Amino acid sequence: MKKRIIYVMSMLLAVLTLAACTGGDSMANDETENDKLEVVTSFTILEDLAREIGGDDVNIHNLVPTGTDPHEYEPLPQDMNKATDADLLFYNGLNLEGGDNGWFHKMIESVNQDTENVCNLTNRIEPMYITDDEGQDEEINPHAFISPKAGIKMAEDMRDCFIEKDPDNKENYEERAEEYLTRLTEIEEEYQQKIDDIPEDNRILVTSERAFQYLADDYGLKEGYIWAIDTEETGSSKQINSLVSFIEENDVPVLFIESNVDTRPMETVSQQTGVPLSSEPIYSDEIGKSGEEVDTYIKYLNYNINLIHDELSEN
Ligand SMILES: [Zn+2]
Repeated sequence: MKKRIIYVMSMLLAVLTLAACTGGDSMANDETENDKLEVVTSFTILEDLAREIGGDDVNIHNLVPTGTDPHEYEPLPQDMNKATDADLLFYNGLNLEGGDNGWFHKMIESVNQDTENVCNLTNRIEPMYITDDEGQDEEINPHAFISPKAGIKMAEDMRDCFIEKDPDNKENYEERAEEYLTRLTEIEEEYQQKIDDIPEDNRILVTSERAFQYLADDYGLKEGYIWAIDTEETGSSKQINSLVSFIEENDVPVLFIESNVDTRPMETVSQQTGVPLSSEPIYSDEIGKSGEEVDTYIKYLNYNINLIHDELSEN
């Protein structure tokens, strides 16, 4: 025991001497921070995944905050600084951040980041496509993460990127990822159970943006929506009329409004069709701010499936 204390003391002395030699008054701080991997995430869901899997081994700077559209974003000066210094940068891909010519890739280029430090989390996800109002211009639907099946793959890929970049802490990443993936897998099973529990004729999910395509495909829901993607026109009378005719042809129990969209177009649809609005918003492109009800991806998944189940079963 005594030997150990002496050893620790001498190590401490060595560190202090080193600190004195290299100078700088914030040395103690730098020392601890330098041990950690500097990580940048493109939007709130990835920030939460990185916190879960990166734990104490990482410092995270997130780019698009809650309440801001991840499809179109203008990085702030502090974002550019963090992106320059980052050891590892995570993005969703599937064009969520605007694709190859979008804001994220432009930022990577303009700060001269090494593309080897950039990790796309949807490499293993089969893209699904949406078309514009005219039924032309096909584009990739970015919203795979709304389905926990995709979330599981993304968490696994994030773990692997962490390990590749920081092999010294491999065991830590593996341990945290395993625990987290167990929770995600439980929720994934719950999604199937809860959707199967909804009366078959009621399994219709109507939202403003067509963000729930992967979820609908994975679990057997029919989709209705006002607009295909947030980046184009949102809530034109043509789009509203098209959903109204969908509702006339399908027995839609309830209309959902996402937490991050203008509520007026769906309110109009509700007035025109008499179909009620859901009691609470549904979450798509973001999680809530820290301290709010839905401030983690796990809570987001739980919240959404409970809302979908309850609203579609009761109405
Ligand atoms: Zn979106």
